[in-house]
This record gives sequence, structure tokens and C-alpha cells, in this order.
Amino acid sequence: MRRPEVVVGIDVGGTTVKGGIVGVDGSQVVSRSIPSPGEGGPALLDAVRGLVTDFEADARDRGLAPIGAGVIVPGIVDELGGRVLYAANLGWEDLDLAGELESSTGLSVTIGHDVRGASLAERRVGGARGLPDFVLVTLGTGISCAITASGVTRIGASGAAGELGHTTVYPGGEPCSCGKHGCLEVYASAGGIARRYRSAGGELGTDTAVISGRVRTEELATRIWGDATAALALSLATLVLLVDPALVLLGGGLSRAGETLVAPTLDRLAGELRWRTPPPVRVSPLGADAGRIGAAVLAMDALGRTDLVERWPADLAL
Ligand SMILES: [Zn+2]
Repeated sequence: MRRPEVVVGIDVGGTTVKGGIVGVDGSQVVSRSIPSPGEGGPALLDAVRGLVTDFEADARDRGLAPIGAGVIVPGIVDELGGRVLYAANLGWEDLDLAGELESSTGLSVTIGHDVRGASLAERRVGGARGLPDFVLVTLGTGISCAITASGVTRIGASGAAGELGHTTVYPGGEPCSCGKHGCLEVYASAGGIARRYRSAGGELGTDTAVISGRVRTEELATRIWGDATAALALSLATLVLLVDPALVLLGGGLSRAGETLVAPTLDRLAGELRWRTPPPVRVSPLGADAGRIGAAVLAMDALGRTDLVERWPADLAL
């Protein structure tokens, strides 16, 4: 009997490396996450290599046949060449990531960009299934977005499209890590919200899950959260006016706030747009799994199994 085929999907981040094995039929096999070594660079490469090798061995132990892997990373990526050109958060520069992983695993490895990878998962499996025009905004430690227009997710002339977090929402506002002032990320990222809450006298160590839970019951949380959703709506209004998406999906850790995030953002967005109806704004159904599912989809596409992905279940969770 032929062993069932599976692919490996890996989402490499600055704090966590998330991975999983998915059957080519969309069956969920196993998922696992490991902390990223703080120093990044070669230590992170070793950690990723170890995770892929473990998944490969695990799949074989289960009587499965691993046939390929997809790996997505933040930064500037040469997808065709399988190289990471520059990933500041990971300490990687001009790294032949596909070559490194292929030589130690024997799997064919495809490399992609993290937010575009998550967006691919949403379009093929998740909340934007079949939509040629939509944007996915990921709200995490930072803020980024993937713009899909006429079925193509924009990469940009220099590979740097989608840096929504560094669009200016308040000229002359608070300083951003990028060197500018008043960037969206300063006000509406998880990192920005937690920092602003603390510096305004909020309890130390409070994360955004707690802050969002205090909206409407605590004045400071309500104000900081209100600033965040107002800033997000300003950036989204510009995005909507420029690219006219059919849907805005919100992903990343902050999207777990659900309606506490969506309702005020949509309300403000409608106010910013006035003469046109805003597109629906929804929370990504794949959430934090979108990255590794997208990485698995990249592997499937590279292996010529695109048609099978259309049958993957919408509630796929790795
Ligand atoms: Zn900035």
C-alpha cells in the first residue's frame, strides 16, 4: 500500500518558530512550536533545521511519506531563488535557506514571505477563499499587510510592499523604531498598545489581551484602545481608497480581541470613507495558524499539487 503523502509547513518568527505536518488531502497530522533562539543567525537556522528534520522523522514513524516543505520568513525574500536576502529580526542576510534545508533533510523546500504566506492561506483555504481583491492586515508585535489585487499579492519593486505599520497616522507623533514619528505601529500594534498603556500609568506587564478586556470598564484602557482603533481605521481608509478591496481581514495576535477590535475600527473606517461603503472587516479564521498553513500551501504548489489544496477544509487548524 502506498504511504499517505504529507507536506511540512514552517513559519519562522523572531520569537517563535511554528510548524506542522499536513496531509496532501488537508488532513491535520501534527503541529509544534519552538521558541526562536534570541540571538537568531546560525542558531536560528539550526533550530529550523532541527524542527524540519524532526517532522520528517515523525512523519515516517507514522507511516507517512513527507514529500516537501514550505518555510516562510519575515523580511526580504527571493522566493524563486529560495534565499532570504535580509531579515533583520532573524539575523539572516543573503542566506540560501532552501539549499541549507534541502541538503540536511532530503525534502524539496520552498521559501516564502511570512505575511504573503498567511495571505495565501486565507485566499486558498481561509477567510478570503476565492477572492481576487482583499487585504490581510497582521497586527502583532508590529503591523504589516498583504495586498492582493486582481489575484496577485503585491511584492513591490524592491520586495518591500505592505509596510502598513510605517504609514504615518499622526505627523509629529510618538517616535517609532524605524526612526520616524507617528507611525501606525506606534499606536496600534500589540507592542505599541502595551507600551502606551504602561507609559500612561497602566499596570506594568499588562498585555493587550488584558487591556482589550478592560475596554469600557477602565478609562485608561478605553482611551489607549480607542487611539489604536482610530489609528488603524485611518491607515485602512487610505488602503481602501487606493486599492478598493472586497474584504479586509485582520490577523495576528491582536485580532483575538474579536469584536472589541472590529466594531470600533469599522465604525471609524465608515466615518473616514463617508461617500463610499466600507468593505467588510473580519477577523482571520485561521488566526496565528495562517502562516504555517500558507507555508504548507506553498509546498503543495511547488510540488504541482495545487488542485488538492482546493479541497482542504476551511476549519484547518494546525
Ligand atoms: Zn515606523
